[in-house]
Amino acid sequence: MPTIFSHGAIGFTAAKSVFGASTDRRLIFASILLPILPDADALLMRWIPYGHPFGHRGFTHSLLFAALVGAGAAALAVRRKWPPGHSFFKLAIFFALITASHGLFDAMTSGGLGVAFFAPFDNTRYFLPWRPIPVSPMSVAGLMTPRGLRVIHSEFALFWFFAIAAALWNRNRTARIIAVLFVTAGLGAWIQAMGR
Ligand SMILES: [Zn+2]
Repeated sequence: MPTIFSHGAIGFTAAKSVFGASTDRRLIFASILLPILPDADALLMRWIPYGHPFGHRGFTHSLLFAALVGAGAAALAVRRKWPPGHSFFKLAIFFALITASHGLFDAMTSGGLGVAFFAPFDNTRYFLPWRPIPVSPMSVAGLMTPRGLRVIHSEFALFWFFAIAAALWNRNRTARIIAVLFVTAGLGAWIQAMGR
C-alpha cells in the first residue's frame, strides 16, 4: 500500500477538486476517511491469510466494496445535508470512486500481493502494468527505518504536492501560483517514477 496518509491525501485532493471552495468540513473528513477504510483489513491479518478473498487487499479493496461504501456514505450525506444541492447519485459516484482509488493505487505499488478487484466472487490478484509507487511498511516502526523514510519521501512528491495545491487553490492569486508550481512538481515526480 501507499501509507494510509497518502490514501487520505488523495481523497482530500479529490474533494477539493470536485466540490470547490465551499467544501463542507464533514464532507472533507469523509473524503479523507473513505480511501483509508479499505486498509482496515490489515487489522485482521493475524486471523485471515493475506491471500484469502477477505484477506489483505481482498474484499475491502474490491469494486463492490467501493460501490457499497459509496452508496452508504451518500445516503448519510444527503440525509444530513453535508454539501447542500448535490444529488445522492453524484455523491455515491464520488464516494465510490475515492474508495476505489485505494485499490487502484495499491495495484501500482512495487510489492505485496495484487488487489482482488472482483472479490469476493473472484480472488484473482491484479497489479497495473505500471508500478511506480514503492510499497509501504505496514507499521509505524517500519516507517521509521531508512526504507520507510524513502517511501515517505517518494509519496510526498507523488501525492502530497497535489493535496497541498488543492488546499491552496481557492485562497488568493499568490497561493494559486504556488499551487500550480506544486502540481507541476507532482507531475514531474510521476514522470520520473514511471521512468524508473
Ligand atoms: Zn491497501
